[in-house]
Amino acid sequence: MTQFNELMDSSYDMAKKLLPFMARRRIPLIPENYQLFYDYFLGINPELTRELNDILQKESLFTPSVSKRLYSVFYDVDSEKVKAITEMGERIGSISFSLEENLGQSLDSTGRFQQVLNESATQFEQGDIEAEVMKEMVESLLSETKSALDSQTALADLIEASNKVIATLTAELKDKTRQANIDELTQLYNRRYLSKRFAELTQEEPGRPTQPLSLAIFDLDRFKTINDTWGHPVGDKVLIIISKIIQSFAGERHLAVRLGGEEFVILFQGLDEDEVLALTDSVRLKVANTQITIRGENIPVSISAGISHHVKGENEESFLERADAALYQAKDSGRNCVMVNKAC
Ligand code: GH3
Ligand code: MG
Ligand code: MG
Repeated sequence: MTQFNELMDSSYDMAKKLLPFMARRRIPLIPENYQLFYDYFLGINPELTRELNDILQKESLFTPSVSKRLYSVFYDVDSEKVKAITEMGERIGSISFSLEENLGQSLDSTGRFQQVLNESATQFEQGDIEAEVMKEMVESLLSETKSALDSQTALADLIEASNKVIATLTAELKDKTRQANIDELTQLYNRRYLSKRFAELTQEEPGRPTQPLSLAIFDLDRFKTINDTWGHPVGDKVLIIISKIIQSFAGERHLAVRLGGEEFVILFQGLDEDEVLALTDSVRLKVANTQITIRGENIPVSISAGISHHVKGENEESFLERADAALYQAKDSGRNCVMVNKAC
């Protein structure tokens, strides 16, 4: 209790000197300035004393930005907060949040603090104040200071929470973008992504050498029979197994796509015609040699493919149609084989 009384006495004495001083110099009575001048009067920080003397001599204004700068220089804790707030501003961009509401609360509390200080300063300037009244005023100042500080802590918590929201939103956005380009069942790229990639690869850029581009369309043979015999869920499993084979041959360099249904594509980049044919036929052979067993019984699978080699200036539709025409030739020729379309 003695310590509290001492604190009351010293803060009372300080307020008595400080408030009229600040009011006379037209220094806004905001919490940052109150703390700066509190320490100035205590003389505990020579750097701060020098800096404030300098500003006072020049009769510069204590604008909010000057106060914020001084406060962030002399009180490390707040400089962290200022940094966090600036970062937050940059990251949030145009996203609007309940942040405004909460900032409002913080400002409200700073405003209340200022109001109490202003009232006190006016009364100090008017002369004698009874000891009891003075005690009440200092108590009120202390409690308002505490609530101003509390609201800043709430703001820091809000910043942390908002940062988490931003991280979640960014992850969700990334996931949505991925979902838009990926086939859900097989996790291969979808038709939409094939178009996007084709457009990128065929966009002519001065100085960029064009590399050969080829397309193989694969279609499972008699897949309807597999569904009819084993059921749709088994059909799905077969599609997943086949997609893994296709992906393993496409590797990182080429693009493996599920075009839809039981049709797949590999978009080959930078291979000559013989290499494309060899790789496509390897896929066919691998599928034909893959043992898929269900309930102890073997499910025979095979795949047919049609190839087209891109010609300069050709659009995606034509490029796909030519591969499709070759695929139909493969089906007509008895399936489980690869045909190449020759551009005329
Ligand atoms: P072909 O050798 O001429 O290509 O004969 P096919 O039976 O493979 O061709 P068809 O076009 O007659 O049948 C394709 C079947 O693929 C019909 C459809 O039910 C099935 N299918 C398409 N998408 C899916 C899928 O996501 N899952 C399963 N299980 N089946 C699918
Ligand atoms: Mg088909
Ligand atoms: Mg088929």
